[in-house]
Amino acid sequence: MFSAVTKQGERVILHPASHTGISGSPPYHCPVCNEEVVLKKGKVRRWHFAHRHHSLCRAAPESEEHLEGKAVLYEWLERQNVSPRLEVFLPDLGRQADILFTWNGGTYAVEYQCASIPPEEAVQRTNDYLSHHIQPLWIYSSDRLRFDRSQRYSIHAFEWTGLREEQAGTRCSALTYLSPAGGRFSFLYPRASLSSAITYADLYTVELSSMSVSGLIQLPSVVQGERTWMQTWLNTKKQWRYSRSRWHLYPDSRYVRVLFADRRSDIPYFPAEAGWPVEGMTHFNTPPHHWQSAVLLSFLDPLPLYTSFSLQTAAAEFCPVAEDILRLKQSPLVNHPVDKALEQYFRLLEKTPLLQKNGDGWKKVNGVYLPASIDEGYKMDKQYFSLLF
Ligand SMILES: [Zn+2]
Repeated sequence: MFSAVTKQGERVILHPASHTGISGSPPYHCPVCNEEVVLKKGKVRRWHFAHRHHSLCRAAPESEEHLEGKAVLYEWLERQNVSPRLEVFLPDLGRQADILFTWNGGTYAVEYQCASIPPEEAVQRTNDYLSHHIQPLWIYSSDRLRFDRSQRYSIHAFEWTGLREEQAGTRCSALTYLSPAGGRFSFLYPRASLSSAITYADLYTVELSSMSVSGLIQLPSVVQGERTWMQTWLNTKKQWRYSRSRWHLYPDSRYVRVLFADRRSDIPYFPAEAGWPVEGMTHFNTPPHHWQSAVLLSFLDPLPLYTSFSLQTAAAEFCPVAEDILRLKQSPLVNHPVDKALEQYFRLLEKTPLLQKNGDGWKKVNGVYLPASIDEGYKMDKQYFSLLF
Protein backbone atom coordinates (compact mmCIF):
# COMPACT_ATOMS: atom_id res chain seq x y z
CA MET A 1 0.00 0.00 0.00
CA PHE A 2 1.07 3.54 -0.56
CA SER A 3 -1.16 4.96 2.14
CA ALA A 4 -1.56 4.73 5.91
CA VAL A 5 -3.08 6.65 8.81
CA THR A 6 -1.18 8.06 11.80
CA LYS A 7 -2.25 7.77 15.43
CA GLN A 8 -3.80 11.23 15.12
CA GLY A 9 -5.91 10.03 12.19
CA GLU A 10 -3.84 11.95 9.68
CA ARG A 11 -3.57 10.34 6.27
CA VAL A 12 -0.11 9.67 4.87
CA ILE A 13 0.25 8.94 1.18
CA LEU A 14 3.57 8.07 -0.41
CA HIS A 15 3.99 9.34 -3.90
CA PRO A 16 4.94 6.27 -5.93
CA ALA A 17 7.78 8.11 -7.68
CA SER A 18 9.21 10.59 -5.13
CA HIS A 19 9.66 10.00 -1.42
CA THR A 20 10.13 13.49 -0.10
CA GLY A 21 7.88 15.06 2.46
CA ILE A 22 6.37 12.17 4.38
CA SER A 23 4.05 13.94 6.75
CA GLY A 24 3.19 12.37 10.08
CA SER A 25 5.34 10.11 12.19
CA PRO A 26 4.98 6.43 13.10
CA PRO A 27 3.21 4.33 14.17
CA TYR A 28 1.25 3.98 10.96
CA HIS A 29 -2.00 2.10 10.62
CA CYS A 30 -3.83 0.46 7.75
CA PRO A 31 -6.81 2.57 6.64
CA VAL A 32 -8.85 -0.60 6.00
CA CYS A 33 -8.26 -2.75 9.12
CA ASN A 34 -6.48 -0.32 11.42
CA GLU A 35 -3.68 -2.83 12.13
CA GLU A 36 -0.25 -1.31 12.52
CA VAL A 37 1.71 -1.33 9.27
CA VAL A 38 5.41 -0.88 8.59
CA LEU A 39 6.97 1.67 6.24
CA LYS A 40 9.30 -0.17 3.88
CA LYS A 41 11.87 2.19 2.40
CA GLY A 42 13.02 -0.10 -0.35
CA LYS A 43 15.98 0.68 -2.57
CA VAL A 44 14.75 -1.52 -5.39
CA ARG A 45 11.06 -1.76 -4.67
CA ARG A 46 9.00 1.35 -4.33
CA TRP A 47 8.46 2.69 -0.83
CA HIS A 48 5.30 1.25 0.61
CA PHE A 49 3.48 0.29 3.77
CA ALA A 50 3.20 -3.39 4.57
CA HIS A 51 1.12 -5.43 6.97
CA ARG A 52 2.89 -7.75 9.37
CA HIS A 53 2.93 -11.46 8.57
CA HIS A 54 -0.27 -13.37 9.26
CA SER A 55 -2.35 -10.25 8.88
CA LEU A 56 -6.04 -10.91 8.41
CA CYS A 57 -6.61 -7.70 6.48
CA ARG A 58 -8.38 -8.01 3.12
CA ALA A 59 -5.87 -5.52 1.70
CA ALA A 60 -2.93 -7.82 2.59
CA PRO A 61 -0.68 -9.24 1.35
CA GLU A 62 -0.04 -7.12 -1.68
CA SER A 63 2.28 -8.45 -4.36
CA GLU A 64 5.07 -6.42 -5.84
CA GLU A 65 3.34 -6.81 -9.18
CA HIS A 66 0.20 -5.22 -7.79
CA LEU A 67 2.10 -2.33 -6.21
CA GLU A 68 3.96 -1.71 -9.46
CA GLY A 69 0.84 -1.74 -11.64
CA LYS A 70 -0.95 0.64 -9.31
CA ALA A 71 2.02 3.03 -9.33
CA VAL A 72 2.32 2.96 -13.13
CA LEU A 73 -1.40 3.64 -13.52
CA TYR A 74 -1.28 6.44 -10.95
CA GLU A 75 1.63 8.16 -12.69
CA TRP A 76 -0.06 7.78 -16.06
CA LEU A 77 -3.30 9.32 -14.73
CA GLU A 78 -1.31 12.21 -13.22
CA ARG A 79 0.07 12.94 -16.68
CA GLN A 80 -3.52 12.92 -17.97
CA ASN A 81 -4.35 15.76 -15.55
CA VAL A 82 -7.28 14.02 -13.94
CA SER A 83 -5.97 14.52 -10.34
CA PRO A 84 -5.97 10.84 -9.39
CA ARG A 85 -6.11 9.89 -5.73
CA LEU A 86 -4.24 6.80 -4.64
CA GLU A 87 -5.81 4.19 -2.34
CA VAL A 88 -8.94 5.99 -1.35
CA PHE A 89 -10.71 4.35 1.57
CA LEU A 90 -14.47 4.43 1.04
CA PRO A 91 -16.12 3.94 4.45
CA ASP A 92 -19.57 3.17 3.00
CA LEU A 93 -18.10 0.31 1.00
CA GLY A 94 -15.63 -0.73 3.70
CA ARG A 95 -12.93 -0.97 1.09
CA GLN A 96 -10.19 0.92 -0.59
CA ALA A 97 -10.20 1.81 -4.26
CA ASP A 98 -6.75 1.42 -5.83
CA ILE A 99 -7.10 4.77 -7.59
CA LEU A 100 -10.02 7.19 -7.75
CA PHE A 101 -10.35 10.00 -10.27
CA THR A 102 -13.00 12.13 -11.91
CA TRP A 103 -13.30 12.72 -15.63
CA ASN A 104 -16.02 14.47 -17.60
CA GLY A 105 -18.30 14.68 -14.55
CA GLY A 106 -17.99 10.98 -13.67
CA THR A 107 -16.11 9.29 -10.82
CA TYR A 108 -13.99 6.27 -11.72
CA ALA A 109 -12.40 3.64 -9.52
CA VAL A 110 -9.45 1.74 -10.93
CA GLU A 111 -9.26 -1.85 -9.72
CA TYR A 112 -5.93 -3.29 -10.74
CA GLN A 113 -6.02 -7.06 -10.35
CA CYS A 114 -3.22 -9.57 -10.71
CA ALA A 115 -4.41 -12.60 -8.76
CA SER A 116 -7.59 -14.55 -9.41
CA ILE A 117 -10.50 -13.81 -7.10
CA PRO A 118 -13.90 -15.52 -6.85
CA PRO A 119 -16.22 -14.12 -9.54
CA GLU A 120 -18.85 -13.39 -6.87
CA GLU A 121 -16.40 -11.09 -5.12
CA ALA A 122 -15.64 -9.19 -8.33
CA VAL A 123 -19.36 -8.80 -9.06
CA GLN A 124 -20.02 -7.63 -5.50
CA ARG A 125 -17.24 -5.05 -5.69
CA THR A 126 -18.57 -3.83 -9.04
CA ASN A 127 -22.12 -3.50 -7.79
CA ASP A 128 -20.94 -1.73 -4.62
CA TYR A 129 -19.20 0.89 -6.74
CA LEU A 130 -22.15 1.28 -9.08
CA SER A 131 -24.57 1.77 -6.19
CA HIS A 132 -22.35 4.64 -5.02
CA HIS A 133 -22.31 6.18 -8.50
CA ILE A 134 -18.71 5.20 -9.09
CA GLN A 135 -17.77 3.58 -12.38
CA PRO A 136 -15.29 0.74 -11.82
CA LEU A 137 -12.50 0.24 -14.34
CA TRP A 138 -11.12 -3.25 -13.98
CA ILE A 139 -7.59 -3.45 -15.29
CA TYR A 140 -5.84 -6.81 -15.16
CA SER A 141 -2.18 -7.64 -15.17
CA SER A 142 -1.13 -8.61 -18.69
CA ASP A 143 0.44 -11.72 -17.12
CA ARG A 144 -3.11 -12.99 -16.98
CA LEU A 145 -3.40 -13.14 -20.80
CA ARG A 146 -3.32 -16.77 -21.84
CA PHE A 147 -3.71 -17.69 -25.47
CA ASP A 148 -2.58 -20.03 -28.20
CA ARG A 149 -1.67 -19.53 -31.85
CA SER A 150 -5.24 -19.69 -33.10
CA GLN A 151 -6.40 -16.61 -31.14
CA ARG A 152 -7.97 -18.81 -28.49
CA TYR A 153 -7.95 -17.20 -25.08
CA SER A 154 -8.58 -18.75 -21.73
CA ILE A 155 -10.23 -16.09 -19.60
CA HIS A 156 -10.82 -16.62 -15.88
CA ALA A 157 -14.45 -16.41 -14.78
CA PHE A 158 -13.87 -13.32 -12.61
CA GLU A 159 -12.22 -11.38 -15.45
CA TRP A 160 -15.55 -11.22 -17.32
CA THR A 161 -16.80 -8.90 -14.58
CA GLY A 162 -14.58 -6.17 -16.01
CA LEU A 163 -16.03 -6.45 -19.53
CA ARG A 164 -16.99 -2.97 -20.72
CA GLU A 165 -18.70 -1.63 -23.83
CA GLU A 166 -17.01 0.51 -26.40
CA GLN A 167 -18.80 3.89 -26.28
CA ALA A 168 -18.34 5.39 -29.72
CA GLY A 169 -19.35 3.19 -32.61
CA THR A 170 -19.49 -0.57 -32.64
CA ARG A 171 -20.48 -1.08 -28.98
CA CYS A 172 -18.27 -4.14 -28.90
CA SER A 173 -17.09 -5.10 -25.44
CA ALA A 174 -13.54 -5.48 -24.23
CA LEU A 175 -11.40 -6.43 -21.26
CA THR A 176 -8.51 -4.18 -20.24
CA TYR A 177 -4.99 -5.33 -19.34
CA LEU A 178 -1.82 -3.52 -18.32
CA SER A 179 1.81 -4.43 -18.59
CA PRO A 180 3.54 -2.15 -16.06
CA ALA A 181 7.02 -3.20 -17.18
CA GLY A 182 6.22 -2.86 -20.87
CA GLY A 183 4.29 0.37 -20.37
CA ARG A 184 1.35 -0.88 -22.44
CA PHE A 185 -2.39 -1.27 -22.22
CA SER A 186 -3.98 -4.21 -24.00
CA PHE A 187 -7.61 -4.44 -24.95
CA LEU A 188 -9.09 -7.86 -25.52
CA TYR A 189 -12.23 -7.97 -27.67
CA PRO A 190 -13.95 -11.36 -27.32
CA ARG A 191 -15.43 -12.41 -30.66
CA ALA A 192 -16.85 -15.90 -30.28
CA SER A 193 -16.93 -18.63 -27.70
CA LEU A 194 -17.26 -22.36 -27.96
CA SER A 195 -17.80 -22.90 -24.24
CA SER A 196 -17.16 -21.15 -20.95
CA ALA A 197 -13.46 -21.93 -21.21
CA ILE A 198 -12.60 -21.10 -24.81
CA THR A 199 -13.01 -17.69 -26.39
CA TYR A 200 -11.72 -16.40 -29.70
CA ALA A 201 -10.69 -12.78 -29.31
CA ASP A 202 -8.79 -9.89 -30.90
CA LEU A 203 -6.05 -8.24 -28.87
CA TYR A 204 -5.06 -4.60 -29.39
CA THR A 205 -2.03 -3.19 -27.61
CA VAL A 206 -1.37 0.53 -27.10
CA GLU A 207 1.65 2.25 -25.52
CA LEU A 208 0.77 4.18 -22.36
CA SER A 209 2.25 7.30 -23.93
CA SER A 210 -0.16 7.23 -26.87
CA MET A 211 -3.26 6.43 -24.80
CA SER A 212 -5.64 9.07 -23.44
CA VAL A 213 -7.91 8.77 -20.44
CA SER A 214 -10.96 9.10 -22.72
CA GLY A 215 -9.54 6.24 -24.79
CA LEU A 216 -9.24 4.11 -21.68
CA ILE A 217 -12.77 4.89 -20.49
CA GLN A 218 -14.55 4.76 -23.84
CA LEU A 219 -12.31 1.99 -25.20
CA PRO A 220 -10.53 2.24 -28.54
CA SER A 221 -12.70 1.79 -31.63
CA VAL A 222 -11.16 -1.09 -33.45
CA VAL A 223 -11.76 -2.98 -36.63
CA GLN A 224 -12.61 -6.63 -36.20
CA GLY A 225 -9.63 -8.84 -36.91
CA GLU A 226 -9.56 -11.56 -39.49
CA ARG A 227 -11.75 -14.43 -38.37
CA THR A 228 -9.31 -17.21 -39.21
CA TRP A 229 -10.96 -19.34 -36.53
CA MET A 230 -14.13 -19.47 -38.64
CA GLN A 231 -12.46 -22.12 -40.78
CA THR A 232 -12.61 -24.58 -37.90
CA TRP A 233 -16.21 -23.86 -37.01
CA LEU A 234 -17.74 -26.54 -39.22
CA ASN A 235 -15.43 -29.06 -37.65
CA THR A 236 -16.65 -28.02 -34.23
CA LYS A 237 -20.25 -28.51 -35.31
CA LYS A 238 -19.31 -31.94 -36.55
CA GLN A 239 -17.96 -32.81 -33.12
CA TRP A 240 -21.11 -31.49 -31.45
CA ARG A 241 -23.14 -33.86 -33.58
CA TYR A 242 -21.03 -36.98 -33.79
CA SER A 243 -19.10 -37.09 -30.55
CA ARG A 244 -21.65 -38.34 -28.04
CA SER A 245 -19.36 -38.03 -25.06
CA ARG A 246 -19.26 -34.27 -25.59
CA TRP A 247 -22.78 -33.35 -24.79
CA HIS A 248 -22.81 -35.37 -21.63
CA LEU A 249 -20.05 -33.15 -20.29
CA TYR A 250 -22.18 -30.06 -20.00
CA PRO A 251 -24.00 -29.99 -16.67
CA ASP A 252 -26.87 -27.91 -18.07
CA SER A 253 -27.45 -30.17 -21.08
CA ARG A 254 -30.18 -31.91 -19.02
CA TYR A 255 -32.45 -28.87 -19.32
CA VAL A 256 -31.75 -28.34 -23.00
CA ARG A 257 -32.37 -32.05 -23.60
CA VAL A 258 -35.88 -31.65 -22.19
CA LEU A 259 -36.67 -29.23 -25.03
CA PHE A 260 -35.52 -31.89 -27.51
CA ALA A 261 -37.21 -34.75 -25.68
CA ASP A 262 -40.55 -32.90 -26.00
CA ARG A 263 -40.05 -33.31 -29.75
CA ARG A 264 -38.77 -36.90 -29.46
CA SER A 265 -35.28 -35.79 -30.38
CA ASP A 266 -31.95 -35.12 -28.72
CA ILE A 267 -29.11 -32.60 -28.76
CA PRO A 268 -27.01 -34.14 -31.60
CA TYR A 269 -30.03 -33.58 -33.88
CA PHE A 270 -30.04 -29.85 -33.17
CA PRO A 271 -31.40 -27.60 -35.96
CA ALA A 272 -28.76 -26.60 -38.52
CA GLU A 273 -29.66 -22.95 -37.79
CA ALA A 274 -28.20 -23.35 -34.28
CA GLY A 275 -24.57 -23.32 -33.18
CA TRP A 276 -23.15 -20.37 -35.12
CA PRO A 277 -20.90 -17.54 -33.96
CA VAL A 278 -22.67 -14.23 -33.34
CA GLU A 279 -21.49 -11.05 -31.64
CA GLY A 280 -22.37 -11.08 -27.95
CA MET A 281 -22.39 -14.87 -27.69
CA THR A 282 -19.51 -14.76 -25.21
CA HIS A 283 -22.05 -13.81 -22.57
CA PHE A 284 -23.23 -17.42 -22.52
CA ASN A 285 -21.22 -20.09 -20.76
CA THR A 286 -23.53 -22.57 -22.42
CA PRO A 287 -22.19 -23.75 -25.80
CA PRO A 288 -23.79 -21.97 -28.79
CA HIS A 289 -25.70 -24.95 -30.20
CA HIS A 290 -27.39 -25.30 -26.80
CA TRP A 291 -28.51 -21.73 -26.27
CA GLN A 292 -29.39 -21.16 -29.92
CA SER A 293 -31.44 -24.37 -29.92
CA ALA A 294 -33.16 -23.04 -26.82
CA VAL A 295 -34.06 -19.85 -28.73
CA LEU A 296 -35.38 -21.88 -31.64
CA LEU A 297 -37.30 -24.47 -29.62
CA SER A 298 -38.58 -22.44 -26.68
CA PHE A 299 -39.39 -19.19 -28.48
CA LEU A 300 -39.54 -19.53 -32.26
CA ASP A 301 -41.04 -23.00 -32.62
CA PRO A 302 -44.26 -22.34 -30.61
CA LEU A 303 -44.84 -19.10 -32.56
CA PRO A 304 -47.56 -19.50 -35.28
CA LEU A 305 -46.29 -19.21 -38.87
CA TYR A 306 -46.17 -15.65 -40.30
CA THR A 307 -46.19 -14.09 -36.83
CA SER A 308 -44.14 -10.91 -36.50
CA PHE A 309 -42.20 -10.15 -33.37
CA SER A 310 -39.87 -7.48 -32.02
CA LEU A 311 -36.60 -7.89 -30.16
CA GLN A 312 -38.39 -6.75 -26.99
CA THR A 313 -41.02 -9.50 -27.26
CA ALA A 314 -38.41 -12.14 -27.95
CA ALA A 315 -36.17 -10.94 -25.10
CA ALA A 316 -39.10 -10.83 -22.66
CA GLU A 317 -39.90 -14.45 -23.51
CA PHE A 318 -36.40 -15.79 -23.81
CA CYS A 319 -34.54 -14.05 -20.96
CA PRO A 320 -36.43 -15.90 -18.18
CA VAL A 321 -35.76 -19.19 -20.01
CA ALA A 322 -32.09 -18.26 -20.35
CA GLU A 323 -31.79 -17.47 -16.66
CA ASP A 324 -33.59 -20.65 -15.79
CA ILE A 325 -31.86 -23.26 -17.91
CA LEU A 326 -28.70 -21.70 -19.34
CA ARG A 327 -25.49 -20.54 -17.74
CA LEU A 328 -24.79 -16.85 -18.21
CA LYS A 329 -21.65 -14.88 -17.48
CA GLN A 330 -21.76 -12.08 -14.97
CA SER A 331 -20.84 -8.84 -16.73
CA PRO A 332 -22.53 -6.08 -14.71
CA LEU A 333 -20.93 -3.32 -16.80
CA VAL A 334 -22.57 -4.45 -20.03
CA ASN A 335 -26.21 -3.46 -20.58
CA HIS A 336 -28.67 -6.19 -21.63
CA PRO A 337 -26.07 -8.62 -23.01
CA VAL A 338 -28.64 -11.38 -23.70
CA ASP A 339 -30.79 -8.99 -25.75
CA LYS A 340 -27.76 -8.07 -27.81
CA ALA A 341 -26.81 -11.67 -28.49
CA LEU A 342 -30.43 -12.39 -29.43
CA GLU A 343 -30.56 -9.45 -31.82
CA GLN A 344 -27.39 -10.60 -33.55
CA TYR A 345 -28.70 -14.13 -33.73
CA PHE A 346 -31.98 -13.05 -35.35
CA ARG A 347 -30.02 -10.98 -37.83
CA LEU A 348 -28.10 -14.09 -38.75
CA LEU A 349 -31.34 -16.05 -39.08
CA GLU A 350 -32.57 -13.49 -41.64
CA LYS A 351 -30.23 -15.24 -44.05
CA THR A 352 -31.97 -18.58 -43.43
CA PRO A 353 -35.46 -19.70 -44.56
CA LEU A 354 -36.71 -19.33 -40.94
CA LEU A 355 -37.02 -15.55 -40.63
CA GLN A 356 -37.61 -12.44 -42.67
CA LYS A 357 -36.85 -8.95 -41.58
CA ASN A 358 -40.06 -7.05 -40.83
CA GLY A 359 -39.74 -3.38 -39.91
CA ASP A 360 -37.78 -3.20 -36.67
CA GLY A 361 -38.43 -6.85 -35.98
CA TRP A 362 -38.80 -10.16 -37.76
CA LYS A 363 -41.45 -12.47 -39.18
CA LYS A 364 -41.39 -16.23 -38.83
CA VAL A 365 -41.79 -17.65 -42.34
CA ASN A 366 -40.88 -21.31 -41.81
CA GLY A 367 -41.06 -23.92 -39.10
CA VAL A 368 -38.07 -25.10 -37.09
CA TYR A 369 -36.78 -28.35 -38.53
CA LEU A 370 -34.97 -31.00 -36.51
CA PRO A 371 -32.80 -33.24 -38.70
CA ALA A 372 -33.93 -36.87 -38.73
CA SER A 373 -30.37 -38.16 -38.62
CA ILE A 374 -27.00 -36.85 -37.58
CA ASP A 375 -25.73 -37.20 -41.15
CA GLU A 376 -28.59 -35.06 -42.38
CA GLY A 377 -27.86 -32.47 -39.70
CA TYR A 378 -24.21 -32.22 -40.65
CA LYS A 379 -25.06 -32.06 -44.36
CA MET A 380 -27.32 -29.09 -43.58
CA ASP A 381 -24.56 -27.52 -41.45
CA LYS A 382 -22.28 -27.55 -44.49
CA GLN A 383 -24.96 -25.90 -46.65
CA TYR A 384 -25.63 -23.27 -44.01
CA PHE A 385 -21.95 -22.56 -43.55
CA SER A 386 -21.63 -21.46 -47.18
CA LEU A 387 -24.96 -19.63 -46.97
CA LEU A 388 -24.21 -17.67 -43.81
CA PHE A 389 -20.47 -16.90 -44.01
ZN1 LIG B 1 -5.17 -3.66 6.69
